[in-house]
Amino acid sequence: MAIGLYVHIPFCIQQCPYCDFSTEINQQENHHNYIELLKKEIALKSNWAADKNVRSLYFGGGTPSLVQPKYILSLIKEFEKYGFYFLEDVEITLEINPGTISEESLGEYLQMGVNRFSVGAQSFNDNILNKIGRKHSAQDTVKTLDLLNKHKLNYSFDLLFSLPGQSMKDLALDLATLNSFSPKHISTYYLTIPQRHSLNLNRPDEDTELEMFDFIEDKLDSYGFNQYEISNHALKNFESKHNYHTWLGGQYLGIGMSAHSFIEHNDDKFRFWNPNTTNAWEKSLEVLKPKMKVSDQSPERFEKLTKIDHLNDFVHTGLRLKEGFSEKKLMESLDKEKQNEWILMANSMVEQKYLLRDENISLTKKGKRMLNFVLEKLFISK
Ligand code: SF4
Repeated sequence: MAIGLYVHIPFCIQQCPYCDFSTEINQQENHHNYIELLKKEIALKSNWAADKNVRSLYFGGGTPSLVQPKYILSLIKEFEKYGFYFLEDVEITLEINPGTISEESLGEYLQMGVNRFSVGAQSFNDNILNKIGRKHSAQDTVKTLDLLNKHKLNYSFDLLFSLPGQSMKDLALDLATLNSFSPKHISTYYLTIPQRHSLNLNRPDEDTELEMFDFIEDKLDSYGFNQYEISNHALKNFESKHNYHTWLGGQYLGIGMSAHSFIEHNDDKFRFWNPNTTNAWEKSLEVLKPKMKVSDQSPERFEKLTKIDHLNDFVHTGLRLKEGFSEKKLMESLDKEKQNEWILMANSMVEQKYLLRDENISLTKKGKRMLNFVLEKLFISK
């Protein structure tokens, strides 16, 4: 079935106040050591992958474009050294921030096989970027997109909305400006922060937020984008292979601090994840021994999935997709009692117009706005 690989590079030029990824302030002198640890982890975990055919490799973070391209290349080579085979149509994505790539570094990335970029720009509005603590400017974003377009590259753009001081007009301008660059893929994220967070001051009210959700979907649809996943919109054939693979229940191996993995061996399914700081991650590698089995890991960050865990994942990720998930497939895996319970709940959610039911079960527009509520209702208990 092939595997997806994820590599976490935590360095960032700022600590954005809304960010909940595992990051650390960029210090060049830490790069070498971090990359060496990644190589050590590849060596220790390579045999945990039941299938070493690589469908996608994703360098995420953090800001992977802050480390020198030679380090990215050395990691690709390290995977190959340990038997991973990059399929001919492999997707290799590198997350970049505006102003962190040059003509020269881009040339190196392309030469090593990177064929997709994900630009963490968030907005074209300098005032808003400043308010949310981003150091780059709209001009930096324009230069980066111009560079990617000059080489006719496939890239995705991260757009954040419901930001402090943001009006509908600001959002409309962001979308129109973005569309003028013709990206192939757009990820849209609602700013999610705790209630007492300082960035909650002067945010759009609830009605405006709902209007923003609708506006983004309608506008991107009118630009020709298909909302194939709840936060992701792509032109035809430009969906993210890496994310699609994981949403469809494919195996992935994550390397680096905070990286998550999902691996299957025969009928057993395992989920495991790395600690959130470099120090703790480094310590976790020290206790791994060569030839150790995936199931020998520390129980703190490892679980063998039960059948019900796996079915909940199937519903959870399937509902995020436009096409939803197969109810028939779910029913085949449940006993009679659980089937009856689940059908009762699903019927009620269909009646209340949270769900659509045809061959598959998928979310309505109302369901998309209330995803957590829907997931809670459809949760299958043990
Ligand atoms: S640049 Fe991105 S990953 Fe880094 S701190 Fe900001 S939001 Fe988080």
